[in-house]
Amino acid sequence: MRQCKRRGYCCQDVRLAESPEILQKAYEFWRKSKKVDPSFSEIYLIYPMLTFKFENEEEDLPYHYYCKHFTRDSDGLPTCSIYPIRPAMCREFPYYESVPHLDTSGPLSPYEGCGYNDPD
Ligand code: SF4
Repeated sequence: MRQCKRRGYCCQDVRLAESPEILQKAYEFWRKSKKVDPSFSEIYLIYPMLTFKFENEEEDLPYHYYCKHFTRDSDGLPTCSIYPIRPAMCREFPYYESVPHLDTSGPLSPYEGCGYNDPD
């Protein structure tokens, strides 16, 4: 069944199109502007939670980050320390329900071993 199996790959390797510099600029802009709806981009949640790991220019989402909220529960299972308020990018991963035109015939997740790539 294709679903989250709490393996934690996506939280330990968050892949984005935005560089650390762009994220910082967006965050600083949000902090200075009272006109920006905080729920618009959730940059107030996303920027502080990410630690830059590396860039791979050959990928569509070239910037790799580690999430500071990734942790393990008392049984050693991967978990999220802000689960009830995690950003939409986490709630909606891997986006096949919110992006109707996404090709669902192949792997849904870019992470090898992710539960969303398990056979139906
Ligand atoms: S906020 Fe939670 S669900 Fe989102 S990447 Fe971090 S640990 Fe994972």
